Amino acid sequence: MDFAYTPKVQELRRRVQSFMDEHIVPRIRQYDEEVARGCFPVSFLEDLKALAKSEGLWNLFLPHLRDDEPGTRLSNLEYAPLAEIMGRVMWSSEVFNCNAPDTGNMELLHMFASDEQRRQWLEPLLHGQIRSAFAMTEPDVASSDATNITTGIRRDGDQYVINGRKWFITNAAHPNCRLLIVMGKTDPEAPAHRQQSMILVPRDTQGVEVVRNIDIMNHHAPEGHCEIVFRNVRVPASNLLGEEGSGFALAQARLGPGRIHHCMRSIGAAELALELMIDRSQERKTFGKYLHMHGTVSEWIARSRIEIDQARLLVLKAAWMIDTVGAKEARQEISMIKALVPSVLATVCDRAMQTFGAMGISPDTPLANHWIWARALRYADGPDEVHLRSIAAAEIKRRQPMQGASAAYLTPPARL
Ligand SMILES: Cc1cc2nc3c(=O)[nH]c(=O)nc-3n(C[C@H](O)[C@H](O)[C@H](O)COP(=O)(O)OP(=O)(O)OC[C@H]3O[C@@H](n4cnc5c(N)ncnc54)[C@H](O)[C@@H]3O)c2cc1C
Repeated sequence: MDFAYTPKVQELRRRVQSFMDEHIVPRIRQYDEEVARGCFPVSFLEDLKALAKSEGLWNLFLPHLRDDEPGTRLSNLEYAPLAEIMGRVMWSSEVFNCNAPDTGNMELLHMFASDEQRRQWLEPLLHGQIRSAFAMTEPDVASSDATNITTGIRRDGDQYVINGRKWFITNAAHPNCRLLIVMGKTDPEAPAHRQQSMILVPRDTQGVEVVRNIDIMNHHAPEGHCEIVFRNVRVPASNLLGEEGSGFALAQARLGPGRIHHCMRSIGAAELALELMIDRSQERKTFGKYLHMHGTVSEWIARSRIEIDQARLLVLKAAWMIDTVGAKEARQEISMIKALVPSVLATVCDRAMQTFGAMGISPDTPLANHWIWARALRYADGPDEVHLRSIAAAEIKRRQPMQGASAAYLTPPARL
């Protein structure tokens, strides 16, 4: 494993950083003001997207683009430090067409869509002309176990009919959201992991009703985490993604790379929080000392550095594994970063907020927003406990040949 940034990555980092400094950071206040006035997408978004695209800073997340598809072909390892820069401003990844959940959806379509599905949905997504959502979670069942999903996808002649209720569907309130990738059951009698399928549902299909945009921790996201009802929604049978019964496998394929992007961006957000903590602790004095001279605050700074670097190394390892052995083989590393990084971000933000005093939880710093998002990430793409369960299961499986704790006495010490 060699995680040194290559000259190509260093050059791209410089260009993404310059773009952020020149075009995004100066617009942070304007973005917040426009969203507060209900203007979403904000007025300058399309111009910035066009600029990023013209500069080749586009679709940086997708390694296997075809020749006729727009973007910069990077490995996951190469993309990680770029996503990290984007993570410092929460909305910036959309400017580079690298935002969730569209990235996961594009990856899914890239792997499994038919030619017609690619033309209709993947091409406009790759060009940033439309947005999309991924609809799996349901209010009526524990959705961290995807086999519980109950939404029905019933075949009727040359159509499928969809009935069910979903919630926390990110992006569904985005005015440009045109596509919902819906997970449901095509065959409730099949073995547990073959009951599910995914189907492409145009957002404006009759019977699709966005009931509400759910606030998370009293925070309103303009793109939405929506509750959606599907009432006798009919789509052509050709809208099925992959084959009947493949939904569970498709969900696994989609969530791997998608999860790592959240973690890459979270490292950048944690770096920002640490920088702010250090700056603030050098400006303010209590009891005759700058804050960083108090042992508690200096320990927060030190621990944050250790935890961020640990998290980054694990994220880079997971990226390297996805690149070299594929997302399936990297499952455990992906679960490890998913269970770790949001908590690291939340902890570092928490320390930084505390260092700022009351200002830390006001809108005058980005800390509260990053902290809320870090907390939310502990559910999105599967709660921590489900990832910990997978990691433990893999570890235990690896140890199965052992004969119990007493075997420790029988095992010769490893040669160094
Ligand atoms: C901000 C945000 C965005 C989201 N975006 C989307 C989206 O775009 N599309 C989508 O489909 N969903 C989305 N979700 C939903 C998310 O994927 C689910 O909330 C998550 O999978 C958990 O499902 P659940 O809420 O039904 O919790 P449940 O399945 O009811 O689980 C409840 C709790 O049980 C515990 N638990 C579960 N299994 C175990 C276990 N094995 N061991 C110990 N404890 C366990 C966990 O603590 C878990 O939080 C989003 C959620 C959030 C917060």
